[in-house]
Amino acid sequence: MYVKTVQPRSPRGDYGDSPTAQAGMRLRYALLGGIVLAFISLNAQAETFSGVVDVAIAENGENNTFEEIYELRILKNGKEVRKKLKSGKLKLRGGKVKLRPGDLVEVTGDAGGDSIFVDALAVQATSGAAAVVDGDRITLGILVGSNDSVAAVTAADLTEYLFNAERSIDGLYDANSLGHIRFTGQVVGPYYKDTRGADCSSEGNGFWDWVASMEAQIIADGVDISQYKHLLFIMPPNSTCIGTGYAYFNNPYAFVKPQASWGPEKVKYYIAHELGHNLGMHHAGYDPNNDGIADSEYGDQSDVQGNPQYQMSDWNAPNADYMGFLSDYPHKIVTGESGFFEVEALEMHPGETWMQQIIKFPKLDRVANEWYYISFRQPIGYSNTLQIQYTTGISIHTFVDDGSIQRTRIIDLLQPGEVFYDQENKIAITATSQSLDGMSMGFTFEPIAEVPPVTLAISAGKGHRQNLWWSSIDTSEVSYYEVIRNDVTIATTTNTAYEDRSVSMGNIYSYVVVTVNAAGLRSEDSNTVTVNLSKRRRK
Ligand SMILES: [Zn+2]
Repeated sequence: MYVKTVQPRSPRGDYGDSPTAQAGMRLRYALLGGIVLAFISLNAQAETFSGVVDVAIAENGENNTFEEIYELRILKNGKEVRKKLKSGKLKLRGGKVKLRPGDLVEVTGDAGGDSIFVDALAVQATSGAAAVVDGDRITLGILVGSNDSVAAVTAADLTEYLFNAERSIDGLYDANSLGHIRFTGQVVGPYYKDTRGADCSSEGNGFWDWVASMEAQIIADGVDISQYKHLLFIMPPNSTCIGTGYAYFNNPYAFVKPQASWGPEKVKYYIAHELGHNLGMHHAGYDPNNDGIADSEYGDQSDVQGNPQYQMSDWNAPNADYMGFLSDYPHKIVTGESGFFEVEALEMHPGETWMQQIIKFPKLDRVANEWYYISFRQPIGYSNTLQIQYTTGISIHTFVDDGSIQRTRIIDLLQPGEVFYDQENKIAITATSQSLDGMSMGFTFEPIAEVPPVTLAISAGKGHRQNLWWSSIDTSEVSYYEVIRNDVTIATTTNTAYEDRSVSMGNIYSYVVVTVNAAGLRSEDSNTVTVNLSKRRRK
């Protein structure tokens, strides 16, 4: 049975229409005097600041390290300065605080240098979920040089990579968004400034002074940088300003540091990835134990926001939904309940497919707005580098679609006949088979059949040995039974009885038995039986 509910296109962040967020926003924001900060001293150290939140990712893809950077833009004596928000008494990462870029917040904490160690935080106005990105992403590629090194990409190459190549950044976004997102623009530079010294050694004000200085050079050449929705800085290979990439969410600034050894595909991968952050996408991680935490930050090999062998790739199903890529074909994204489904390859043009391409199911146990996404991928076009396990089975992702910036997580890849269990939600997903033409794949999404529990009885044997026995159930539903004493498993057996010889006087023993089926799913506990050997028996 199908349950087809057409989903509205996901809210997406397009900062392009926000006057505070465009290129040149730092100057313009300074004029928005109304939103300015309170600067109140509570005691010798804790201070209160109000300002606008920026969120960035600083990363080094070569060793899979990254850091989420939260910054507060505040006005101080009429000048905009940035303070890095760090955890104080309030934990910012992994905690309950979910800051969105553009939020207006009041922060209290100890300020030291370019940082505030946050003790308390109140969101005064949330930026909320912005509109879907649509239209031309006019981009300024900026080559950067220093006194001993210059960007490892020429202006001609960068122009080619961004706008013109057969496999270009524009081509990738064009193909995925079905013509909604196009990259146009130009490349300038190189512009020279020290990229190794203390000038740009942190994400604090030194770095932003460095950026302002670069921008001043570009403006002096007659380039109106406020026209650009992306300012992409290509740093020299030996720059210490950034790792391999640095980009702000829902904000024009992106930085990439190509090495001379990188081939064109790798340079394009990094640029597409950082621009993806600009457009509001986080990382595509791998979460094999489905606990909501990516075990591998870049572990989804089927999405540019992951790490698909440093080559361009299409985006995965949740990112395609989040970005509104299929907004002209909303019926290709279906919300399911349970039953048999078939998905057609996400790489196919939806105008040329028969079936739905993304099926999402509410995941109810953890947080609001969380979904399972099921899709099928084929090595076509920009996905021609997909690893075989992605193209011979269905992909299962989770994603929290609440309008904030969230990772997508690949949970499992199911080859035909393989089953995925979610015991918390009591569902099973089973891949069936690929269609004859190879372009679609079937699966079932079904409630897990309950494993029946047993009824347990006990009697004392010789020497206080405890004889346990329990009701037998249909053997087709049982792989084995687990005997649990005082919350510790003491035996597994295929029999329906067990003699516990390892008992001694002075103890109280509580027993339950659990049925485990062939899939490893467990029943509810049996009834508990308790024997009290702590009392001396009357003769
Ligand atoms: Zn990244």
